[in-house]
Amino acid sequence: MGRFMKACVLHQPGPVRDRPLRCDDLPTPEPGPGHLLIRVSACGVCRTDLHIVEGELPVRRSPVIPGHQIVGTVAGRGGSVPARPGIADGDRVGVAWLHSTCGACRYCTTARENLCDQAEYTGWTRDGGYAEYAVAPADFVYPLPPQPADDQVAPLLCAGIIGYRCLRRCGLADFNGARLGIYGFGAAGHITIQIARARGAEVYVSTRDRQRHQTLAEQLGAVWVGDAGSAPPVKLDAAIIFAPAGEIVPVALKALDRGGRLVLGGIHMSPIPSIEYADLYWERSVCSVANNTRQDGREFLEEAVRVGVRTEVQSFGLSEANEALIALKHDAIRGAAVLEIRHEA
Ligand SMILES: [Zn+2]
Ligand SMILES: [Zn+2]
Repeated sequence: MGRFMKACVLHQPGPVRDRPLRCDDLPTPEPGPGHLLIRVSACGVCRTDLHIVEGELPVRRSPVIPGHQIVGTVAGRGGSVPARPGIADGDRVGVAWLHSTCGACRYCTTARENLCDQAEYTGWTRDGGYAEYAVAPADFVYPLPPQPADDQVAPLLCAGIIGYRCLRRCGLADFNGARLGIYGFGAAGHITIQIARARGAEVYVSTRDRQRHQTLAEQLGAVWVGDAGSAPPVKLDAAIIFAPAGEIVPVALKALDRGGRLVLGGIHMSPIPSIEYADLYWERSVCSVANNTRQDGREFLEEAVRVGVRTEVQSFGLSEANEALIALKHDAIRGAAVLEIRHEA
């Protein structure tokens, strides 16, 4: 490990077409007490990164290294890191969006650490994984199984975990035979459908990109695939919106059966138009998903490996991070975008 590393850094948010990320040589971070140093091999590119880079989320740290779907190996440790299986030197580990929580507030002490208001977030309030090295608290690092490959695993760490939490928030006791809608079919959608199908759900997919996303949805077993505005042929027991488009909310609400729930899976959404009470009546509900708990992450990774989730990835080099975000913005990614970090030395 050298004293310096390459990193893609956001100094000032701006439209991705202006390529706001800059490749800098930065000092390799030192792991503080309780932290691990991770030699990054792949980092997934998430829509939240786009919201951070374009300034739709407020600046919480500047400059900042984005990226919160980090796969790498343990390359060092700060003081007092306990020896735990799975996080020994050289072990393959993952770092996700939830960087740390306070552990003491009323949310943290009631199994709702995703709501902690002193939480830190990887790649937003702390430096993330668009870099050769990253540091993270050992307690928030996920041991990873040896398979699948680094670039295939990376999208599981946010797209997958958040999709899993969305499924949980659907409020269905049993997915077997349930009718589930998915609106927006990027990284999260293409993973979530695999979990839902493995649990026996019928999945109905609406997405605006016919060429890439609709074909992938069909290949992954959607029983119906339509355009963003079109209504599925049946009423849905639950639906998840992954697209950051508020105008889909009233459309998706109309597609719900009585008692159905609509889950909003993004951290940012364009304004939601007004809705008719008649569309919400019959005990339909709308809820959001904020972050995830570590329990969500562990359970999801276990289930994803057990049911054999496969991710479709499009790889970019570290210096192509702007290009990856531009492609993501224009729906030009089939599956998930991932930065592959090639170390020079
Ligand atoms: Zn807390
Ligand atoms: Zn994310």
